[in-house]
Amino acid sequence: MKRTLKLLPYILLICTLLFSLVSCELPIPPLGGGDPFDPVITIPGESGEDGVPDVPVAKAGEISIHFIDVDQADAALILDGDKVMLIDAGNYPNDEHKAYMLKYLKERGVETIDYLVLTHAHGDHIGGAPEVINTFDVKNCIISKQPHTSKTYEKTLDALEDNEVNVIPAEAGDTYTLGSATFEILGALREEYEDLNDSSVVLRLDFGKRSVLFTGDAETVSEEEMVEKYKNTDKLDADVLKVGHHCSGSSTSQAFLSLVSPSVALISCGVNNSYGHPHRTVLDRLGGARAEILRTDLHGTVVMITDGEEMAFTCLTKAHKTSAKD
Ligand SMILES: [Zn+2]
Repeated sequence: MKRTLKLLPYILLICTLLFSLVSCELPIPPLGGGDPFDPVITIPGESGEDGVPDVPVAKAGEISIHFIDVDQADAALILDGDKVMLIDAGNYPNDEHKAYMLKYLKERGVETIDYLVLTHAHGDHIGGAPEVINTFDVKNCIISKQPHTSKTYEKTLDALEDNEVNVIPAEAGDTYTLGSATFEILGALREEYEDLNDSSVVLRLDFGKRSVLFTGDAETVSEEEMVEKYKNTDKLDADVLKVGHHCSGSSTSQAFLSLVSPSVALISCGVNNSYGHPHRTVLDRLGGARAEILRTDLHGTVVMITDGEEMAFTCLTKAHKTSAKD
């Protein structure tokens, strides 16, 4: 007994050493708590490819998400089999953007849009909406509850009425099905905000194990409310983040980003835009979160294809936009 007591410190030391060795070999959990995986990203000129790539087409069992290069504006097309969703419709400051956007949708075979989501009433999100509504057969339009007095907003409402589109005011908690994918409205959580940007519809799209969070132009006021509501859930935890408000400094707070913990951050903004987007501080924050950053101002339209497990991103470059104008 006495001998055992004498040896006790040595036994404890050996146990401690063994434990720390085992601890060191424990796998480090991936950021965000999702499955560890590496998205495949193809950037012509940076990853060995030359020339302008073809627009990737989803195979059976896959969906495609197209972050369309609409300059200093937003437009994302989601194709799931024959089901179509368009989140925001860009702005049409000139004929070039109008031609590119409409031609891009038509070339993807779009005739009917099952869900048109208009995140909020600013012109860089709904500017193209009247043309889209008058050109395609839009079945449903999910729209932010906060109205605007602008002519563009009035024209959009007129187009919705003239074409007998089913208008659905966005309601947090509502869920929808788009083919094999589902999406849920997560924000905005109030009907009215001082800043129209905060009224943006925020929605999460899920397909298999993969998820994309679309945030419109939501800023920190709306983000804080969502963080408070969803902090004990995994609702905001997504693989891909469409970065809020074109990556301005007033969005993508650390608290919000920590909950989303994206693997890929997608920024939609114009080349040399007058707003200074993307903001350096937010780019650094995204880098700190170990997100791969893709930007429409640098990479052109970005197409994501996923089978619910793997994710592949193809950047179509500015050259694609030029060639698509014809
Ligand atoms: Zn915007």
